[in-house]
Amino acid sequence: MNNNLSRFADSKVYFQCPICTKSMDIQGNSLICRHGHCFDISRYGYVNLLLKSSPKTNYSKRSFDNRHQILEYGMYDVVLEKIIQFISDTPSIRNILDVGCGEGFYARQIQQRTERNIFAFDLSREAIQIASKKDKRKAVKWFVTDLSKIPLKDGSMDCILDIFSPAHYKEFQRLLSPNGYVVKVIPTKNHLREIRTKVQAHLKNPDYSNESVVEYFEKYLKTISRETVSATVQLSSEQRMSFIEMTPLLFCVEKDCVDWRTLTHLTIEADVLIGMY
Ligand SMILES: [Zn+2]
Repeated sequence: MNNNLSRFADSKVYFQCPICTKSMDIQGNSLICRHGHCFDISRYGYVNLLLKSSPKTNYSKRSFDNRHQILEYGMYDVVLEKIIQFISDTPSIRNILDVGCGEGFYARQIQQRTERNIFAFDLSREAIQIASKKDKRKAVKWFVTDLSKIPLKDGSMDCILDIFSPAHYKEFQRLLSPNGYVVKVIPTKNHLREIRTKVQAHLKNPDYSNESVVEYFEKYLKTISRETVSATVQLSSEQRMSFIEMTPLLFCVEKDCVDWRTLTHLTIEADVLIGMY
């Protein structure tokens, strides 16, 4: 079995068919269930388990490339380190699912640093292609799927990471083992405040607060920890351009109307919520 396939060798323990929910096992280059539903493993080492075609989103390949650069530069390391610390301190966590993993920065880093068994998916096939190509260790199980029907077995995950991404708490509950954890990372009102100040008048939601997101989380989960992580980082002009291109905050803003040259620093700030059902 070549390297890109071997990470899927234990698939029947974890994956279930998105059509009939039976176990899926690896056969040749594919994952296949006993009803013969068959999904090819790409040569980069991901499986597309989405039953419809991947929808077009605001995230182009270029915005994933920009995001990759920003993350690799370490701008969000304050978030990464907090998550790694929690996982490292919690030996009961073996199987981890990264939900809406984008270009896969957190999943790759966490795999490398903690050696846990990592699953990661996104709705965007382009994102997963980038993620799997960058996975030099060929260790993360990448797949394309929809948040509402994740093709993993009941109780198969010990921890779900939901980093700046939408949640589906009923589905998370189905997937988690007893005493499993949800780690949810959400921006605070100070997040990117240097950009917010500049474009305040153009923002749909200028007085952002994350309280409704926290309330929704607490409707389903018992919060065992809530911590704010924060860092102000310096930007080179190249990093500034990459950031402006990729941040969802500016998707609906005419970026050319703003003088960005005075944007030399950016505050990254997030609440890291850890909860249990
Ligand atoms: Zn099937």
